[in-house]
Amino acid sequence: MSGVWMKKSCSPPAVGKPGREMKIGVLALQGDFEAHLKMLMRCEVEAIAVRQAAEITEIDGLIVPGGESTAIGKLADLFELTEPIRNRVQNGMPLFGTCAGLIWMAREIEGSDQPLLGLLDVTVARNAFGRQVDSFEADIPMPLLGDRPLRAVFIRAPYVLQAGEGVQVLARYEDKIVCVQEGNLLGAAFHPELTSDERLHRHFRRMVEDSKNESAPHHLAYNAR
Ligand code: GLN
Repeated sequence: MSGVWMKKSCSPPAVGKPGREMKIGVLALQGDFEAHLKMLMRCEVEAIAVRQAAEITEIDGLIVPGGESTAIGKLADLFELTEPIRNRVQNGMPLFGTCAGLIWMAREIEGSDQPLLGLLDVTVARNAFGRQVDSFEADIPMPLLGDRPLRAVFIRAPYVLQAGEGVQVLARYEDKIVCVQEGNLLGAAFHPELTSDERLHRHFRRMVEDSKNESAPHHLAYNAR
């Protein structure tokens, strides 16, 4: 009798399955989602295009691509994706927005009341680099990714006008904030998916890995009781 009890209590705790596969979704309503899917495959991540609420439950992280932020916001509302995404992100799922994606994630857009996810504590200015310089490339220092600067492609890009206290500034271009992280939220004003440099996507992949591993201590605590 006591042997049975011993066996049960001494069995190894069922901690969060090391090496469990991860899946990252790319919101595929509008914009350059294909380039993100390709980049994720290069980073050896299983990637899916997300268009339906059911797919939100399958993924461990989500990328919102560049495109047109008003269209993305309206389509996300229309297809009833905004609320399920908001719920998952508020419960810790990592989210990475690039350009229009960053705009959609923001709490506030200067001079616009377009539909937003509204979770990232920043105020963003759209098309902020001026019409003369619609599109340009620059090497921007990003210490998080190492000494080598990141090649950044800006296309009618926004920048962050104001960032809340919990927001970490990862990169600036000519004093303008162009890359930020706030916990599980990562936002870039440029298009890292349009270069061959995988480092920012690999950083996001690590955020997703970490968010999955965070469940281990809870399992441990539960099993130890
Ligand atoms: N200018 C676009 C917007 O405001 C963003 C451009 C982009 O995603 N490349 O939505």
